[in-house]
Amino acid sequence: MDDLRVGLGADVHPYDAGRPLHLAGLEWPGEAGLAGHSDGDVAAHACCDALLSAAGLGDLGSQYGTSAPEWAGASGVALLAETVRRVGAAGWTVVNVAVQVVGERPRLGPRRADAEAALTAAVGAPVSVAATTTDRLGFTGRGEGLAALATALLRAT
Ligand code: MG
Repeated sequence: MDDLRVGLGADVHPYDAGRPLHLAGLEWPGEAGLAGHSDGDVAAHACCDALLSAAGLGDLGSQYGTSAPEWAGASGVALLAETVRRVGAAGWTVVNVAVQVVGERPRLGPRRADAEAALTAAVGAPVSVAATTTDRLGFTGRGEGLAALATALLRAT
């Protein structure tokens, strides 16, 4: 049987209406952006953490923390592509990634296929994108920010 590993990741950023929104590898004109020293792409970041988790390589903080300032302003998709490179160097091939965005805005449905295409291009393996709300409960329900959850499956190369 193949040597398979599953991993999980999550991310949260608060909204910052003064910034453009970068989400799931896409720009979203007219939508409030997300704060953070990166572009705040919670979906891409959750995918990164799921991949690192599956490979046993820690997480975004340990891979791209304050000791790696060259990645401080990187886009979510750039981080995702670099993460896949690191996972590959550690002996793993990505089978697939699934990510779910949790929040009230933006409405992901109309651009779900574009988001899947953008993240799939960054990963080089299928990435499925879904979305849900929390029925107005919690910080996402109050419109304070966006969250994302992801899983990744890897196969030993
Ligand atoms: Mg993040």
